[in-house]
Amino acid sequence: MAKKQFKAESKKLLDMMIHSVYTHKEIFLRELISNASDAIDKLHYISLTDGGVGLDRSDFFIKIDVDKDKRLLTVSDNGIGMTKEDLESNLGIIAKSGSLDFKKDINQGETKEQDIDIIGQFGVGFYSAFMVSDEVSVLSKAYGSDEAYLWKSSGADGYTITKAEREEVGTTIVLKIKQDGADENYGEFLEEYRLRSLVKKYSDYIRYPIKMDVEKSREVETDETDEDGEKKTKFETYVEEETLNSMVPIWQRTKKEVSDEECMTFYKENYYDYEDPVKVIRISAEGQVEYKAMLFIPAKAPYDFYTREFKKGLQLYSNGVMIMEKCEDLLPDHFRFVAGIVDSPDLSLNISRELLQHDRQLKIIAKYLEKRIREELEKLLKSDREKYEKFYGAFGRQLKYGVLADFGMNKESLENLLLFHSAKEDKLVSLKEYKDAMPEGQDSIYYATGNTVAKAKALPQAEQVLEKGYDMLCMTDEEDDFVINMLREYEGKNFLSVNEADLDLQTDEEKKELEKQADENKDLLDFVKESLGGKVAEVKISSKLKTHAVCLASTGGVSLEMEKYFDMIPGAEKPKAQRVLELNAGHSSFEALKNAFENDKEKAAK
Ligand code: ADP
Repeated sequence: MAKKQFKAESKKLLDMMIHSVYTHKEIFLRELISNASDAIDKLHYISLTDGGVGLDRSDFFIKIDVDKDKRLLTVSDNGIGMTKEDLESNLGIIAKSGSLDFKKDINQGETKEQDIDIIGQFGVGFYSAFMVSDEVSVLSKAYGSDEAYLWKSSGADGYTITKAEREEVGTTIVLKIKQDGADENYGEFLEEYRLRSLVKKYSDYIRYPIKMDVEKSREVETDETDEDGEKKTKFETYVEEETLNSMVPIWQRTKKEVSDEECMTFYKENYYDYEDPVKVIRISAEGQVEYKAMLFIPAKAPYDFYTREFKKGLQLYSNGVMIMEKCEDLLPDHFRFVAGIVDSPDLSLNISRELLQHDRQLKIIAKYLEKRIREELEKLLKSDREKYEKFYGAFGRQLKYGVLADFGMNKESLENLLLFHSAKEDKLVSLKEYKDAMPEGQDSIYYATGNTVAKAKALPQAEQVLEKGYDMLCMTDEEDDFVINMLREYEGKNFLSVNEADLDLQTDEEKKELEKQADENKDLLDFVKESLGGKVAEVKISSKLKTHAVCLASTGGVSLEMEKYFDMIPGAEKPKAQRVLELNAGHSSFEALKNAFENDKEKAAK
């Protein structure tokens, strides 16, 4: 029979699995068990909501079998199973969206690091079986179908699907374990002790029993008697089916029972990340609504985080039964980077997605989670700056979007999580830190916008602020100006852009002097404005320039940075900033201009 070909990316990934130098080949078992558990979840859910399945909670199981002589390792489940089409589409291609994105990584050399990155990040699941097997076969019968099918493949050269027999609904996966190599002992995956410890290590919390026939020995009496007339005993071995896992989900256990490290391992295994999260949040609530939650704040953004493909949400369980893979309503958009699980016995299993949105209990949970996440982030900012900044590097932008969203509805709850680059300290500071460090006499929070910190600092207008001993925040992200506009003020201190026409930093004498200069030069200033033919709204003597000759400032609601931003958006309305040209009356070029104005207008205009 002709072999079907894997889709191109799948083939590459498969190739990589087969030739993997990845040291953690043992994870294949975890992946297969996790798939089996998901499949049981699905059927269990149907059995609870539909009733026609004929299976109870206690009937579900995952079974591991070993045939050492034939080098076969089998993982079977009585979950939902797969139809012929499912086998084709689930195992013939990689389901993960974004698989195309890492094609280029696969193409570039086969270093160990990269292997780990890819395997860890994308949780290649089923394909990991090929790291330890020469041949993999999947025999499956789907719920609601009378036919079973056998999928078989020995690697990148393709796969076959044939009609087959399987009594019950479910899936059986048989791995033909590779021969041992010089450095590699694949035979260990046929040893009871090894399999037992792998289940304990990676799959202990799986909520269905993972069973295996294990050899045990017991003491039995014999017919012979010893000198004292007592019956002699001997040891005999027998085989008994044992459940290897404790079946308590990790989020149901207390902090004493499960360390943060274990939670982090759980996170990495289940959320396609290879880095520890910066924070694990564990909640056990008993008030209005009873629930347990385990939340993770990742250290880095998933590759698709800032795209439309990314879906926020937490896994939602009711008493250990998964209701929804990604419940969006549990997380506000500004914390959409949070991953994790909520499990509440108070939620009804039969509830539809539409109704769930309006569920009172769910709303109470969501409200608390949002508060708690914020508090934990604030705590982290205080207690572990390095970690917080790592987090902020990944998700700071999301927090800023959060300030802007919904007409600033959440700005108060997010403002304390923001960091900006301080010109004086040359590091990130929070608004609170900025405010607390303000010297007496400083009334506003100064900031400058620029593509880079260096550019913001080099603005001619910045000089005066810094010279006064005031700090200045350097805003380098596109959205920063909008964020500041939305915040307006922080704890009673308003934000002032150094690009604004009037910073009001002068003493009374200086102000008088300025007015005098403005009066004296009124004709000149009018002349300059006229010569520029409407390009600027105003020309004035600068109050803020020190060593630079001129600068451009803005007045009114739209800043120069905002204008640039609007210009970039195709089709959008393009509001213009009102420009103010400021001239430094103390600069030699001003002297020259004045001279020309008095003696040679044409030259002056030029
Ligand atoms: P993932 O589990 O991350 O989606 P996998 O490559 O491990 O990726 O599996 C692909 C798909 O194959 C699963 O999403 C599931 O639909 C199906 N599948 C795998 N194993 C089983 C199983 N034991 N029973 C039913 N379906 C399965």
